[in-house]
Amino acid sequence: MLLKSSKINEFRLWGLLLTMGGMLIMIIGLAGVVFDWGAVGRIIAVIFLILGMISMLGSMAIYFWAGMMSTSAVALDCPECGKRTKMIGKTDRCMFCKTILTVDPSMAPAEAEISDEGNIRQPETGSATTAIDSSKN
Ligand SMILES: [Zn+2]
Repeated sequence: MLLKSSKINEFRLWGLLLTMGGMLIMIIGLAGVVFDWGAVGRIIAVIFLILGMISMLGSMAIYFWAGMMSTSAVALDCPECGKRTKMIGKTDRCMFCKTILTVDPSMAPAEAEISDEGNIRQPETGSATTAIDSSKN
């Protein structure tokens, strides 16, 4: 994962960035029309507008995908902060406290090695989730 965030939040962030980027690219492209640069300006405008459109379509696809994934996400109470969060896949971060949660206890040590130097919590008996205490900045 690129960011220390839950998967749903990360998808939302990328969707937002692509939308903003697409709009910015289209605004830059419009400069080719606004300032009278002739045929070259028009070509630049068209290229930038197409790039902006692709970026915005991409963000829509990401939003759609995130929506599809969130329907299959497992809702559970975070053992670290007690708030209700959603989990995608076997391992994900809590939306609120960024603690790595996993439903598979055998995943816990490996995940801790990859991500943080934090303490590994022993799974509580009777609990389906294991919390790995990540370094909260
Ligand atoms: Zn939490």
